[in-house]
Order: sequence, then C-alpha cells, then structure tokens
Amino acid sequence: MKTIHDFPRLHLAVGPTPLHKLENLSRKYEKNIYIKRDDLIGVGLGGNKVRKLEFLLADAKARGADVVFTTGGAQSNHAMLTAACCRRLGMEAVLVLKKRGVTEEKGNLLLNRLLGAQVHFVDTDRYSVVYQEMHRLGEALERQGRTPYYIPVGGSTALGALGYIAGREEAYGQGEAMGVHFDHTICVCGSGGTTAGVALGTQYHSPGTRVLAIAVDDDPFEEIVPRLMGEALALLEDPSPVRSDAVEIQYHVGAGYGVAGAEDTAAIREMARLEGIFLDPVYTGKAFAHFLSLLRAGYFTGENLLFVHSGGAGGLFAVDLPE
Ligand SMILES: *Cc1c(COP(=O)(O)O)cnc(C)c1O
Repeated sequence: MKTIHDFPRLHLAVGPTPLHKLENLSRKYEKNIYIKRDDLIGVGLGGNKVRKLEFLLADAKARGADVVFTTGGAQSNHAMLTAACCRRLGMEAVLVLKKRGVTEEKGNLLLNRLLGAQVHFVDTDRYSVVYQEMHRLGEALERQGRTPYYIPVGGSTALGALGYIAGREEAYGQGEAMGVHFDHTICVCGSGGTTAGVALGTQYHSPGTRVLAIAVDDDPFEEIVPRLMGEALALLEDPSPVRSDAVEIQYHVGAGYGVAGAEDTAAIREMARLEGIFLDPVYTGKAFAHFLSLLRAGYFTGENLLFVHSGGAGGLFAVDLPE
C-alpha cells in the first residue's frame, strides 16, 4: 500500500491553510463550529482546486507537458486556478469553457484575462462536445511540437482526489494540535473529487468523524463519489473496499447549478456579518445555507463541526444574489 507521500506533488499551497473557530456562529447555534480556510490557500483567490492541482500538475510536469488544457463552466474556479498555478510553474494554460450565459467578462473571466490564459468558448451544454474541442486544439499544438496535458472538469480524477486526502491529513493534524476531535466534517460537492478525497482522508486520519457532502448540482453523486473513491484506493494500492458509510451526500441545488436563491444570499450575508468571511454564490454559500438549515433542525449529534471553505470568491463578482 502507498500513501499520498509516494506521489509526485508540487507545493503550490502557501503553507497549511488556517483552521479556526467561528466564535459568533458557535455562540448563536450552540455548537463548536470550525472552518478550514482553503479559500486562503495562497494562489489566485484561493480554493480547493489548488490541492488537486498539486498532484495533477506534478503529473503533467513528470510527463514533460508544457501546456495544460482544462474545462469548466464560464465562471469555473477550477479553470482560473489552473491558469494561476500554471503561471507559477511557467506553463501555459488553455481553458476550454462552456459558453452558456456569458455576456460580460466578469468574475473569473476577468481573472483569466489578467492571468493571460487562452480561453476558448464552446457553445454547448455537453462536456463530450467540450472534450472533443479540447483534444482538437491539443492535437494541433502537438503537431507544432508541444506536449499537452488534459485535466477533466473540476480536476476530479483519482489523482486529484489525493489532494483532499492531503487536505484532511493537514486539517485533522491541526485539530489534534488544538485538542479538538471533529464529530462532523462538512464539504461542498460539485464534481465529486473533493468529496471523495475528504471521505478517504477522514477514513485514514480521523476515522470517528462523519462526513457530510452538500451537492450543489444534481449529478448522481451516489455513484460518482464511490467510483472516484474506488479509483483513488486503487491508485494507493489499498485493497480496502469503498465503505458505503464513508460519506453522506445531501443535495441543495435550488433553481439550478450556479443559481443562488434568497436563502443562499442570507447564508452568505450571515457569514460575512458574523465572521467577516466571504462565501461564494455557486458552492460554499449554498452549502452553508444547507448547513445552517441542518443546524436549526438539530441534525448534528456531535459538538465539534468543521466546515471546509473551498473558495470561489471570484464568483461573487459575476453572479446575481437575489434578496
Ligand atoms: C469546484 C468547487 C467545489 C466542488 O469541488 P468538487 O471537487 O468539484 O466537487 C467547491 N467549492 C468551490 C469554491 C469550487 O470551486
């Protein structure tokens, strides 16, 4: 069996991200609520994708790649962070994005331009069409002697998921140093890689902690997450079976992926006003809204709760927040 430390990894995160208690929210909801600040990871505007990219881009480097292709929605945090990380490494990023709904260059699209990333839009809703275009562009570069590396949407592969095993090792180590055992870890699920990594990392580093993933789009994560967990276990040559109780997945999609509702705005506002921390409208704000509704309903049995802030601030400047 291997551990994540047997895999090539680039240290893109600037040190361990902070983990601290949310004092005002803890008082209000009568629980000890902690937050893992992967929004402060130190590249771009921060976010969970940097942890995946530490492994994915190390693999790209090892394969001699000089140009990295990835994809996502127009406001993809993953695409922007891929471009930012590539800049650190002196590599070029090509972002092949779904065009749907784009009218202005705001939020992450503005950041992509500042980063000097090449952006190609594909006018489709289907990723199969996007990947076709990505490979067509990549093959054209190959004919010019370049070496492309392809990262699928969200960086949600087994290798990417190792980043969140690393993230859990870091977080539970911080908890231990503070003398805190977390009863629950709460994370956002968007393409599944983070959840798969959090579930496995929790199994390895804090087996008594229950994992709750809050899905913000309606893909079948009950299938996607266990599949990614199985692939990551295979990569680690860990013969353990995927445990069905490793993670609970709940959905909070509202009117659709990327469309915030009034309760999401209220949750973003509550975090800003009580703790001075900004959540994002697509992922963390929605997950936090659901988390607050569970707190109000008395869902959590344990006292110590850890919410993973996976970043996304760029989205605040691109998405409408309904009152
Ligand atoms: C991508 C993203 C997520 C979801 O992570 P997945 O690994 O795609 O499930 C959560 N929060 C933010 C801010 C993200 O950008």
